[in-house]
Amino acid sequence: MESPERGGDPTFTVTGKLHQMSERTFRLYDTMTRQVKPIELAEPGLLRFYSCGPTVYSYAHIGNFRTFLTADLVIRTAEALGWTVKYVSNITDVGHLTQDNLADASGEDKMASALKSKEGEQFNNVWELAEFYEDAFLEDWARLNLREPSVRPRATQHMREQIVAAEQLVKEGYAYETPTGVYFSVDSFKGYGKLSGNTQENLRKAVREVVLDDNKKEQADFALWKKDDKHLMQWYSPFGWGFPGWHLECSVMARMYLGDTLDLHAGGEDLIFPHHECEIAQSEALTGKPFSNHWIHTRFLQVNGEKMSKSTGNYYTVRSLLEKGADPLAIRYALISGIYTKPLNFTDQSLSDAMGNLDRFKRCDAAVEAALENGGEGPDVIGAALGDLYDQALDAMTNDLNTSVALAKALEGTRVILRESESLSKESAKSGKLYLDRINALLGIVRQERDLGCDPIEAAGPKVDEARIQNLIEERTAAKKSKDFARADQIRKDLEVEGIELRDSIEGTTWVVKSAL
Ligand code: AMP
Ligand code: ZN
Repeated sequence: MESPERGGDPTFTVTGKLHQMSERTFRLYDTMTRQVKPIELAEPGLLRFYSCGPTVYSYAHIGNFRTFLTADLVIRTAEALGWTVKYVSNITDVGHLTQDNLADASGEDKMASALKSKEGEQFNNVWELAEFYEDAFLEDWARLNLREPSVRPRATQHMREQIVAAEQLVKEGYAYETPTGVYFSVDSFKGYGKLSGNTQENLRKAVREVVLDDNKKEQADFALWKKDDKHLMQWYSPFGWGFPGWHLECSVMARMYLGDTLDLHAGGEDLIFPHHECEIAQSEALTGKPFSNHWIHTRFLQVNGEKMSKSTGNYYTVRSLLEKGADPLAIRYALISGIYTKPLNFTDQSLSDAMGNLDRFKRCDAAVEAALENGGEGPDVIGAALGDLYDQALDAMTNDLNTSVALAKALEGTRVILRESESLSKESAKSGKLYLDRINALLGIVRQERDLGCDPIEAAGPKVDEARIQNLIEERTAAKKSKDFARADQIRKDLEVEGIELRDSIEGTTWVVKSAL
């Protein structure tokens, strides 16, 4: 493919970032339409991307990281095309129940059940447990050279917005309250099932796929709010004490940070149903607009042909592999060595192959650094070949993240450099460096990077000055007392324009942010 950035084009910076936009398209398999199609950006040059993050009840395993690495490669490829990326990846620290594969997840909250386990004994409470595993997760994330998201919101920090969303869905007839919680009525949303094929009709046929709860209108209706005044993490809502359903956080936080319609949404294959199906129902009911224009899902990392998972115990964590002497970049290399649309078997052999390949990149890096310092005069004899190989690697990545081809092309480049390593001229070394920087920016397998975060984002909605709102509420209460109803009304209306809704009750007046939803 002809491209404007062929062979060491000066529009690249040392980190490999492109200053001008490429004309290439970026094609990915879309789960919704079941075809490989170009990502279409609502705003040229800006990718608004949401990828579901981890539940922090334990150490993440490398299967989880396979999925996060897919998102990372999307970002790197988008940046290689000159796009800006706004990337949101959340932390689930409440509401994810143990039986999350069912139409309406049931069972116990994973956080609460982890606290009761043997490992949980070291923590005083569930908040400590969440913090511990979130910190461990972030450490592993950095070790594997994953790009930092623009925002990493936590479910527990967005409770008010989730409650407001549940209320709105009830008000508009998409959800209803029962003695056990607030449920989204899947019959009220005619698109339910469009991502997974699990329509209400199909689910009725497969009775075992749904949870029995006599209070619900339909068994596939899923929880927006669970009433539970005994739960370890609970909040007060108009529906009483409880906690949000797992799906709601992503709908709310995606909208808050990225707007009503995303360009791309990602996760592992087990999230297609019910999690993403439910996110779509909630979000589209709230906004009346498509939730995401493109959906990608990473197939499972397997061990001996079976899904790597915490529940079966057949898993490795990043730290367990490091203890055995693995280089974190080799773990990364092994995890991205197979294309994300196919399952990948993780073996000792795949890790040791990755260690060998990583070593080639390290030797190249060292040879190039040495030649930049001490290399002799002479022409650049490797730049053209390396430019072509980089182009081919980028082509493979824009073609549904074909990492096997991209890594093979990247490795061919090491052969070109190592062949000349004894006699690299300064000019050749400059090309070698540019190549390694660009390959590292695209695939993250040459050396560890720091401080390469995505574009920062400010949450949509007004900046809330809580003290000012409190003063206005007091002024309004005083105005009402002195029968100045015009002033009291004016204060309520002014705040409403700012997206703040006042709620009066016998205990006094409280407020909620309305504009995030
Ligand atoms: P969780 O922490 O359970 O919420 O999972 C975090 C992410 O890892 C989700 O996107 C899951 O779909 C994904 N995931 C879980 N197990 C695997 C696996 N064996 N291979 C690839 N992705 C996985
Ligand atoms: Zn999600």
